[in-house]
Amino acid sequence: MKLSSRLFLIALTSLSFTITNKAIADTSKKETGFSINNIDTSVKPQDNFYQFANGNWLKKAVIPDDNVRVDSFTDVEAVRDQKLLKIITQASGKSAIFPKESIPQQVGDLYLSGMNLELRNKLGIVPIQPILTQIDSIATPEELITVMANHSLKGLPSIFMAGVSTDFKNSQVNALYIAPILPQQKDFYSNDNFSKQREAYITHIAKIFILGGEKPEQAQSQAQTVFAIETALAESQLTPADGNNPSLTYHKKSLTQLKNEIPNINWDLYFQEMGLSGLQEVVVRQPKYMAMVNQLMKEKSLEDWKTYLRWRLLSGTAPHLTEDFVQEDFEFEYKVMKGAKQQKPLEQRIAEVVRTMLPHPTAKLYVAEYFSADDKAKAEKMVENIKAEFRLRLQENPWMSSETRQKALEKLDKMKSYIGYPDEKEWVDYSSIDIKTDDLVGNLLRINEWNTRRNLATLNKPPVYEPFFGHANPTEVNAQYSSNINSIEIPAAILQAPFFDASLDDAVNYCAIGGVIAHEITHGFDSTGRTFDAEGNLKDWWTAEDAKKFDERANKLIEQYNQYEPLPGLFINGELSLTENIADLGGINIAHSALQRSLTDAQKAEKIDGYTPSQRCFISWAQVWKSKWRPEILRLVILGDPHPPSEFRVKGSLVNTPDFFPAFNIQKGDRMNKDEADIIKIW
Ligand SMILES: [Zn+2]
Repeated sequence: MKLSSRLFLIALTSLSFTITNKAIADTSKKETGFSINNIDTSVKPQDNFYQFANGNWLKKAVIPDDNVRVDSFTDVEAVRDQKLLKIITQASGKSAIFPKESIPQQVGDLYLSGMNLELRNKLGIVPIQPILTQIDSIATPEELITVMANHSLKGLPSIFMAGVSTDFKNSQVNALYIAPILPQQKDFYSNDNFSKQREAYITHIAKIFILGGEKPEQAQSQAQTVFAIETALAESQLTPADGNNPSLTYHKKSLTQLKNEIPNINWDLYFQEMGLSGLQEVVVRQPKYMAMVNQLMKEKSLEDWKTYLRWRLLSGTAPHLTEDFVQEDFEFEYKVMKGAKQQKPLEQRIAEVVRTMLPHPTAKLYVAEYFSADDKAKAEKMVENIKAEFRLRLQENPWMSSETRQKALEKLDKMKSYIGYPDEKEWVDYSSIDIKTDDLVGNLLRINEWNTRRNLATLNKPPVYEPFFGHANPTEVNAQYSSNINSIEIPAAILQAPFFDASLDDAVNYCAIGGVIAHEITHGFDSTGRTFDAEGNLKDWWTAEDAKKFDERANKLIEQYNQYEPLPGLFINGELSLTENIADLGGINIAHSALQRSLTDAQKAEKIDGYTPSQRCFISWAQVWKSKWRPEILRLVILGDPHPPSEFRVKGSLVNTPDFFPAFNIQKGDRMNKDEADIIKIW
């Protein structure tokens, strides 16, 4: 529930509180990192800089059958996954000799429980039978609420979720948020782009019911029931752009108000079952969605709700049950929705389950082996330099009043940065969770319940920030800015080539990891970030005049990105991607300026491989975003994710980077050119 902006694509459906099994990277060998050999010199940089910087790579790069994309992120993930697999299999080989509930025992036994396919096949749906029986026994609306709450605790959501996070408007206290949670994004249920996938979805739901023991005719009608519930809810959901807007998703209600507005849920019972007491108020993210929940609770029969709960249980655990379940889950979630051709090897899939379900224990083993204090120090220095450059830009900003500027400087100065991994005392301790060698689903449900209860227990306590816990796990190839905390996090796993390579010149690193750092810092001042103050409160600190000037610039950027067409007939949503596009614009401009400031005049002219530092810097930025994605995943990202497809992150930002034009002699009439008056300058 934390409001944060990440560098790359966010999870396409909310993974919080659910059992996850993301696709993981391929491990096939390929050239990683910055390379002059990726450049296609037959393309003029003035015409298409992305194609120039990456043309030769694009000619050779092949998306592995078991992946849906190949890019800088999958390159790093592949290297990381090899290292992790080594650590995890080492632990599993000796897990029996480690003390119970020690990190190697937990990591090793979770892995072994997933790898034992023979046992998983033999057990069938036995691991979830007690929960199925519980659903079957529901006879009253009260029992339905009780079961819904129990499922939420286990990370098996029904139609909404409840979780604790910092109060957007008061970062000194925690608040309980109630938010939508549907398996697919809003557009999936109605947009023409998804008509084939919708048909496949209904078939998939029926197949999952059949695997769960249902007769085919019944499974068909149950699939229709499920689809009708989700479609009605999706229609009441905000668009992805509005759903990411904190001002539109903060509706604080007293408990009495909540009960009056959504009377068809017995909230006293629900909160009691969740172990929450003394609750005075809640923040409802999407009231219109909850109004539909209220309506459906009355309209749909108990039988329909039982069907729906069975669906969420079976589909949530499908990747962890028998091979038949796993295959069916793959066929829809990865093949139909994202374009994968075949499954990843079992050991890779299970290692990914271990990495994401035991994030800190796994990361602790990882950083001890593969992350040096030297790398951390270098990254810290880079953050310092980029921040200093940002500060200078704020001081010299030509369009802000001194009043707003002062507050912006205060916000920058208070911004915290976390590099690599948590301090020793900040590692989250998982040792109280019982991880068994022969109980995969049980292990995952216990981890989920432990996570949920731990989260809910923070409700009446002051917020304590836990760095690198959640999406910015140290093994995540990503980076994050958190508006509520006013902090950036740069996980250990992204501090590798092509983002960071100590063996290469500063020019390459400044526009790769430096660009990432500048991107995250800029998030503090993008269209969402700017609505939070230095302390992380959703609070307007802008003069009306300055806010107007910001919006004028932001609107031009929306128009620019609205013109890009990554798939035939499918355009980028400039509004949805605005925060990312502002961050990319700040990212490359600030990183390049910081590099220039660090060089003497003589150094500025020194060429490596025939390119000046300035040129290498821009090539490095473009190469960070080299990518080939399958059209299926591209479609999902364009319609539902704030991050635009990578190619447009290069084009869209460089045409607004004044230093880029002289570096590659870009002139009026060139496709990469923009007239001075049209260049969009924000930070
Ligand atoms: Zn971002």
